[in-house]
Amino acid sequence: TVTNAAAPVAHEKPRQLAVSVMNIIVVAAECAPWSKTGGLGDVVGALPKALARRGHRVMVVAPRYSNYEEAWETGVRRIYNVAGQDMEVGYFHSFRDGVDFVFIDNPIFHAFEGNFYGGSREDVLHRMTLLSKAAVEIPWHVPCGGVCYGDGNLVFIANDWHTALVPVYLQAYYRDNGYMNFARSVLVIHNMAHQGRGPLKDFGGLGLPDHYLNKFRLYDPTGGEHCNIFMAGLITAHRIVTVSHGYAWEVQTREGGWGLDGVIRDHNWKLRGVVNGIDDNEWDPEVDVHLQSDGYSNYNTLTLDVGKAACKAALQRELGLPERPNVPLLGFIGRLDHQKGVDIIAQAMPWLMSQDIQLVMLGTGRKDYEDMLKNFEGSHREKVRGWVGFSVKTAHRITAGVDILLMPSRFEPCGLNQLYAMRYGTVPVVHAVGGLKDTVQQFNPFNESGLGWTFDSLNADALIHAVGNAMWTYLDFKSSWKGIQQRGMTQDLSWDHAAQQYEEVLLAAKYTW
Ligand code: ADP
Repeated sequence: TVTNAAAPVAHEKPRQLAVSVMNIIVVAAECAPWSKTGGLGDVVGALPKALARRGHRVMVVAPRYSNYEEAWETGVRRIYNVAGQDMEVGYFHSFRDGVDFVFIDNPIFHAFEGNFYGGSREDVLHRMTLLSKAAVEIPWHVPCGGVCYGDGNLVFIANDWHTALVPVYLQAYYRDNGYMNFARSVLVIHNMAHQGRGPLKDFGGLGLPDHYLNKFRLYDPTGGEHCNIFMAGLITAHRIVTVSHGYAWEVQTREGGWGLDGVIRDHNWKLRGVVNGIDDNEWDPEVDVHLQSDGYSNYNTLTLDVGKAACKAALQRELGLPERPNVPLLGFIGRLDHQKGVDIIAQAMPWLMSQDIQLVMLGTGRKDYEDMLKNFEGSHREKVRGWVGFSVKTAHRITAGVDILLMPSRFEPCGLNQLYAMRYGTVPVVHAVGGLKDTVQQFNPFNESGLGWTFDSLNADALIHAVGNAMWTYLDFKSSWKGIQQRGMTQDLSWDHAAQQYEEVLLAAKYTW
């Protein structure tokens, strides 16, 4: 008998359709490592690389806030009209980790180096309008590695209100006129609290046909009306992503939607939550460059005890705190904003200071909160450090050196610091909202499961209760603590996982007309 080698084997899985290779252009107001104020910058620095690893041709478009090394002028110059004024932009290019980074050059960006969202409301809107207009034409005008992306199988990924005009311009300038018929757009909500709201006259400066006005006009409950950039993007984009499942639900509620919950509910058929990943090159205790000097140490799950102890001692030394291996060391890192709940830590301060602990806080933002951090340190020099400033190195060192990371955020679309913490064997104590709720499962001593502590209502008592339990476990139940650390460190928090889900969204967008 002749066996037919080519005959399908019974147990062979049906072959999956090959995912089509896409041209993907990610547009955002910030992109790590060049520009970053928070999680948005981290995401835009990492997601594109993960999409490129999946075989797509990927570009990131961001402003050129200063003279970036390794980014070269392409020679392409274009003029765009913003609020009645012609503005000439240049395009700078850098190819890194498989991704084309294109930076939009104009003096209005340079003026805001280090303060990307600074200036008057109009200033910010003009910058974001220019960025969006310049980005949407890139596939035709800016060659990367000699070849333009073109508009075939193209998807734009816009991020937050800053670039919510990208889907709108794509539709109004091109698709409505029979161009870029195969291009689609996805808008990612990283933070719903900022929407680019302004008086209705803002619309006049955007250069859009009059019939687009109704996509921007939002009526307030009080009877007033305003121009809302984010809303127009959400309505126009082919798909919407939020950065966690919890947040996808919250933005449809009155508290979480900040006035746009109704709009999102109307469009929730195209909404999906995808939890952010973390950039393994940046945030991995085994290779973290910030842990390679000053007594810090790299570590992994096998060397956790020794390595993390070295980092804790180094952090205590660096900050001038008593070098005590067994004292619970608590940390906080984040923008000092109402969102992040620093005031809740302030309310818990009397109790915290009555305990034998140390506390390290790093942040910048609101002046009154910055003063608060300094005051904490001033009144408890033997226990507390309140570091006002933005320091990536210090953020890494705190993440590695502390035992417990506090995140009492009022709302948190995804939150990255709790993910970094878990990766570093640091145990998060978080308010159970948005992405924090999705990513930190409460420790359960009965079956030794869970990744940290969560509390449901945002007040000092709830925080104290959760911190108390964490400290008690740290001090008296060493093996449970180790279990929590090991589970946290070995999760798959990679962008590769998240990128696969983004790819599904992009494909769904392709099939949306
Ligand atoms: P958000 O985007 O709301 O600011 P995330 O938790 O998503 O919050 O991301 C915050 C990012 O910004 C993290 O990478 C964190 O380490 C970083 N970060 C925040 N504040 C500081 C600071 N003062 N110094 C250094 N890094 C900071």
